[in-house]
Amino acid sequence: MEITTDLLTLASAIVPYADERLSQFFKIPLNDDGFFVEKHAKLGPCEFATDGVFLCGLAHYPKSIDEAVSQGKAAASRAITLLAQENIFTNGEVASVDPQMCSSCGVCVSICPYSAPGFIAEDARMFAGRATINPALCKGCGLCVASCRSGAIHLNGFDNNQIFAMLDAI
Ligand code: SF4
Ligand code: SF4
Repeated sequence: MEITTDLLTLASAIVPYADERLSQFFKIPLNDDGFFVEKHAKLGPCEFATDGVFLCGLAHYPKSIDEAVSQGKAAASRAITLLAQENIFTNGEVASVDPQMCSSCGVCVSICPYSAPGFIAEDARMFAGRATINPALCKGCGLCVASCRSGAIHLNGFDNNQIFAMLDAI
């Protein structure tokens, strides 16, 4: 096939770094090609579902310099809206761990899509190595509550006794 052109432009290949370690550390998704995936193409194009982690440039997908710069400015603006607040009010429907019930299995840490659970530092005197949940990161999805085999996690507003009370009231 022959094509007559006025101008022929070749783009160099862009190979993503596909940083699995970073992806797992921040719980931020990579697509099949190895680029990071934004929270929402229209409603969150420069951030992730994990609060406080932002996205711009070629880590996202191959793009022009203009687009990368615009996205970088947008990501910086999103970060500033968080950093500029003296107090951040969050949802009260968050999960918490009863450390006496926790068996330190780590399921909640691995399953939470928002990186809210973690382990209490080893140098803490009591309950070292047990799970704890950062209420500022928790979205109250309930995934960890359903996954904890020790029944150690409770979700504000949706604890067993509260659900049974609702059922009894019907
Ligand atoms: S899933 Fe339950 S038992 Fe396992 S670490 Fe989390 S709170 Fe502890
Ligand atoms: S309720 Fe959902 S968001 Fe909150 S810690 Fe559990 S899995 Fe994470």
